[in-house]
Amino acid sequence: MVSFDRAVAVVTGGGSGIGRTTAVEFADRGASVVVADVDVEGGEETVTEIEDAGGDAIVVETDVTSPADAQAMVDAAVEAYGRLDYAFNNAGIGGEQAPITDYSAQKWQSVIDVNLVGVFNCMQAEISRMQDQDTGGIVVNNSSVLGKVGFETSSGYVAAKHGVLGLTKTAALENGETGVRVNAVCPGFIETPLLVEGGITSDSEMREQIESRHAMNRLGTPTEVANAVLWLCNDDASFVTGEALGVEGGYLSQ
Ligand code: NAP
Repeated sequence: MVSFDRAVAVVTGGGSGIGRTTAVEFADRGASVVVADVDVEGGEETVTEIEDAGGDAIVVETDVTSPADAQAMVDAAVEAYGRLDYAFNNAGIGGEQAPITDYSAQKWQSVIDVNLVGVFNCMQAEISRMQDQDTGGIVVNNSSVLGKVGFETSSGYVAAKHGVLGLTKTAALENGETGVRVNAVCPGFIETPLLVEGGITSDSEMREQIESRHAMNRLGTPTEVANAVLWLCNDDASFVTGEALGVEGGYLSQ
């Protein structure tokens, strides 16, 4: 198992689903973790899980749509642990499900704000800090397989996730020589509370239909995404930057 001993990681949306699992995996491998979430209760549960396993973490109430919150999150990491090595920009929402003709402008704005502007806000604060460190840093953004292809009824989500890949490539270019690597993961459909909210895991017919879009004919697990995030943060990925790494069970293989 790769060690992240004495490293410091920030995970946004760390209070649930993929973020929680990734925070726990970072901590299991020795990192101190800043769990940043708008849902503080969920964040505290993640911290308890980490501490119960002998790890080290703090929760910071963070709304990624706020540049001030994003900066405060980075400041909290530096104040508690002295630096910031890894950032997983993962906080996200599903947004409305409706055809473009019926999509509410307000709901469009909110999914863009959380899923796209949020990643920009966090990268701005994180990369500024990482550039100032001799040791650099590594950023992983959580896009989606829907950052690469469309999905009917999810225009806001799809547009935001495509945007995250554009941001990721641009940040990678800007930081090719600064010691900061920037990549994205593009998960297929992963079994988390987000899918329960979207009605996907609770409706067996919809679940089967979604599962069948993956060559492996199943949903992914949060651990399978966390493993990819940790690989991108590892020295084994030292020449990988600007990449959009699919973790999608063959969704795009057809
Ligand atoms: P999740 O279980 O709902 O976790 C997302 C977390 O982010 C929640 O704790 C949520 O809090 C928090 N959050 C929402 N808005 C926030 C904000 N403005 N600032 C800070 N935190 C905020 O969802 P998940 O499935 O793990 O999704 C995590 C990421 O993976 C998202 O970016 C999602 O788009 C991406 N992803 C998921 C799938 C999938 O199939 N599950 C597939 C591809 C990509 P609340 O619960 O209070 O909203």
